[in-house]
Amino acid sequence: MQATTVRKPRSTTSLSSLTTNKLIGLYRTAGLFVEKKTKTFLRLKIDNAVRRKMGVSIRKRIIVKLKYDTRIKKSSLRRATEEIIERKISDKSVATFVKTRIRLVWCRNKTVGELLHNQKIYAIETEHVCQCADRKLPKMEGHVMTRFVELESIPSFIKNSRKVTRSYKAIDLQTLKRAIMVATNHLKGLTTPVTLLADAINQERRDNAAWTKKEVNDWKMRFDRLVLAPIDSNQGDTTVICPILYRHAFGKTFLWNENYEAMGALEDEVELLWGCKEEFANLKLDRLGGWKPDGSLGITYVIPKHKDLDRWRPIAPAPSDPGALAQRRRDEEWEEREEGWEKEREKEEWEEEQQQVREKEWEGKCEGAEEPRQEELEKEERQAKREGVEEEKREEHKHEREERQEERGKEQGKQREEKQQGREREKEEEEEREELQENERERGYGGIFVMLFGGGGAGGGGGGGVPFFTIKHK
Ligand SMILES: [Zn+2]
Repeated sequence: MQATTVRKPRSTTSLSSLTTNKLIGLYRTAGLFVEKKTKTFLRLKIDNAVRRKMGVSIRKRIIVKLKYDTRIKKSSLRRATEEIIERKISDKSVATFVKTRIRLVWCRNKTVGELLHNQKIYAIETEHVCQCADRKLPKMEGHVMTRFVELESIPSFIKNSRKVTRSYKAIDLQTLKRAIMVATNHLKGLTTPVTLLADAINQERRDNAAWTKKEVNDWKMRFDRLVLAPIDSNQGDTTVICPILYRHAFGKTFLWNENYEAMGALEDEVELLWGCKEEFANLKLDRLGGWKPDGSLGITYVIPKHKDLDRWRPIAPAPSDPGALAQRRRDEEWEEREEGWEKEREKEEWEEEQQQVREKEWEGKCEGAEEPRQEELEKEERQAKREGVEEEKREEHKHEREERQEERGKEQGKQREEKQQGREREKEEEEEREELQENERERGYGGIFVMLFGGGGAGGGGGGGVPFFTIKHK
């Protein structure tokens, strides 16, 4: 019976003849399938049927986005959202189910660093005018070069760039109502005004000492036309640098450094990416991981080092590298190989140990004997020979391994370091990057330094020759 069902499944159109109650039951049951593919397939079909019947999707989540504020009471807002759903959807079972799809999420506000740091704007070839003459800030060779911890009168909230700002509109009733309206907008039906209960905001809770975005931006104006950059390996502190000094550092690191090659300005990004994509496909890297169509190239910049502000660390963020997945899988493959080598080594060590045990045993036996017999002498000789061969083999292996590792280390060391750096900053940068990129596009700022495939000698030893995106390091 079941076999017939599988071979000749019932037409999905027959779903629409079922009651909404039954459809919701089926939708819930679909979740019991183990395979994700099956689950999604069934849910989509059932959701379609409900939508045809009721004009409402039961699959889509109702996401109410709230600006973070401790005074907001989520449960109260949930009730208000449920009420809207009840009024919009007449079918009770559908409404009840849709209510379970409500999600109230906090939207993170910007951090101080995200608002203050502007180094990417200054990481360009264009020269800026010196702004130091009438500034009473610590200088280096006549130009401003200092950090917040060294300055007095920096408010404690600003001193830590990781602090999250507060949204002054978060508990505004209109903001809250709008959030619910936006979340339930797709439910068609009768639109009624949102009624918030009095307990939606708990005024008793103390407002935290966080500054608002505007307050931070206003305060920032006192360092107008100066570069404010984070510090390497000191998250939280901010440096204040004259654009002249910053440009010089950027130039030394990237622009005038023969090890890097500028691949073009931001305007060339589209064209560059097209080229990369083609090469990516030609090299069949899509077998490792797909090309991310909405990816982009990172903008390079420099930040001063914690121990010495006059030393700079190059940063090449790659959070949206279109080939990131392939790159990661390639790295994983390497790790696996490395593990393999480790195991091989362990095995060799074990064999060696066993050999020693056998030798000792042999010695013990010999002590008792007056003179080793010819047969045993021969055996010993054979063993020694074998050992020699093994030793040679081990040496060979070791050498090979070292060679591979060295090669790999050379080619990947730098990229790894930068990638790691990228990962660390990925999170904090993503939002900022988006915004900045938008600005930069408009202003034509920024340069792209990128390696377009072929790191470390094509095909050379081990993993060499597998392309990746990063700074072009000749
Ligand atoms: Zn200056």
